[in-house]
Amino acid sequence: MTRTRKTPTRTCVGCGRADEKRGLVRIVRTTDGHIELDPTGKANGRGAYVCPSVECFDAAAGRRRFDSALRVHLHDDDLDRLRRDLETLLNSAAISQQGR
Ligand SMILES: [Zn+2]
Repeated sequence: MTRTRKTPTRTCVGCGRADEKRGLVRIVRTTDGHIELDPTGKANGRGAYVCPSVECFDAAAGRRRFDSALRVHLHDDDLDRLRRDLETLLNSAAISQQGR
């Protein structure tokens, strides 16, 4: 028996790229039915993953991928809010990666 453990991967609902969980941004339907960005990846609920990129978010949103992944109907204002949250997250992540 080998003890090799594959790192579990998740698939971006925008472009279909598979990556480690921490390489993707999780969007979660919380147990009380809200749709939130989940930067920690630890929130309870059904999740969908996208690359840390607005392009993939837009691709997924345009094809209604979140609806089927999360089994909800997302309204445009939900998508707008998530997109803004994602942009904020990406901006702060870019800054911290540069060590500033
Ligand atoms: Zn992607």
